[in-house]
Amino acid sequence: CRWELVGSSGRMVAAVMTAEQVVAALREECATPASRLDEVAAAMADEMAAGLAEEGGSKIKMIVSYVDNLPNGSEEGLFYALDLGGTNFRVLRVQLAGRERRVVKRDTREVSIPPHLMSGNSSELFGFIASVLAKFVEDEGHSAMFSDKQRELGFTFSFPVRQTSITSGTLIKWTKAFSIDDAVGEDVVAELQTAMEKQGLDMRVSALINDTVGTLAAGSYYDEDVVVGVILGTGSNAAYVEKAIAIPKLEGELPKSGNMVINTEWGNFSSSCLPITEFDQALDKESLNPGEQIFEKLISGMYLGEIVRRVLLKISSRCSIFGNVDQIKLNTQFILRTPDISAMHHDQTPDLRIVAEKLADNLKITDTSLETRKMVVEICDIVTRRSARLAAAGIVGILRKIGRGTPGHNRKSVVAIDGGLYEHYTEFRQCLESTLTELLGEDASKSVAVKLANDGSGLGAALIAAAHSQYLN
Ligand code: BGC
Ligand code: MG
Repeated sequence: CRWELVGSSGRMVAAVMTAEQVVAALREECATPASRLDEVAAAMADEMAAGLAEEGGSKIKMIVSYVDNLPNGSEEGLFYALDLGGTNFRVLRVQLAGRERRVVKRDTREVSIPPHLMSGNSSELFGFIASVLAKFVEDEGHSAMFSDKQRELGFTFSFPVRQTSITSGTLIKWTKAFSIDDAVGEDVVAELQTAMEKQGLDMRVSALINDTVGTLAAGSYYDEDVVVGVILGTGSNAAYVEKAIAIPKLEGELPKSGNMVINTEWGNFSSSCLPITEFDQALDKESLNPGEQIFEKLISGMYLGEIVRRVLLKISSRCSIFGNVDQIKLNTQFILRTPDISAMHHDQTPDLRIVAEKLADNLKITDTSLETRKMVVEICDIVTRRSARLAAAGIVGILRKIGRGTPGHNRKSVVAIDGGLYEHYTEFRQCLESTLTELLGEDASKSVAVKLANDGSGLGAALIAAAHSQYLN
């Protein structure tokens, strides 16, 4: 596609930019050599320290979670959890049976949130959640267990919340696909409690947590070396165990454990060392939250497909390698989702049949050459590698902040990761893991392990609720 037809005269003139040039420029602008990632990790660690120093000290909020002890296995009893944050929302019931037997029973129900509730009003959203929870409880029939006890719930609410205690916190802002104005500044536990009462549901919220804190808690329940919890899904964020004395903004008495879990809210990180392209800028500008969650927009699952779509749109406006394109499709935001680009990226068929199918089904691009399909795969690769490598740099920033994964320091550190991007996108996961080794160095990386904490956020909420049960002496 070196030439294109311009003007009514039908004169052939040199294209402003060929498809190959668009891809070459993208490759260059998205480059993340180790030297750049080291800068990102260092900037991340600096911002973390600034955010711990004082409220509002950094774009990274470094939220005090009020979780100063992670579960240790001794938790017992029947607990519920609510997990709200992505496209789905989950209700959970777990029976915990102490150190030896652990989780003896677990039931889950998952429902997708009707999109109109993500931008409606607060009481509709909480009403919907409480109704699903009420149905879940109703379906268990009569349980003698609760004749004299109130049911207890851990609430995983995966948005930036200014936590005021383990059972209360006000919403700072929405992220991802949510935007419900009247909820901002409100106590989300009070809203849930009101909605539950309306459903006639007698339940107490014993813990309000972020999904990263839940992932960290669930991870450390099975492996005490887990010190960081990361979400790489629709959104992205990390939580970790910090020394209380390293948190100048912490008010009141220091926790007995000497530790405090911090929800970093790293999604809002931004820095001049981040590789940002025109596509990212346009995406940000047209997003629900312009100027915010810049790091998240570069790395999380909600946005990767959308970045690729924007690159394809630019190419299609420059030349005709996609044949007769239905511009309406290609112009539709979020029409290409991250699972689609993952499927194209993993296409092993010799003629890239899956790429052809995805382009046809999602974008109505039906007539592509093998060369063009290879180019599409390369675009997915560029965008995803940048994401995985930046996520790795973020993790390294946290490890450096707490003095882990450094040469000569061989205390084991495990990073528990949850989220569909990490779980289902193999290229992403492999790239993240190899980048960690690259950045930490062969030697130091031996003391660091990453592992999948599947559905950690729900289980973690139940565990933390158990640790804060009103029935504990
Ligand atoms: C939210 C975080 C959350 C992350 C992963 C981000 O958009 O701000 O609170 O942990 O998504 O769900
Ligand atoms: Mg989740």
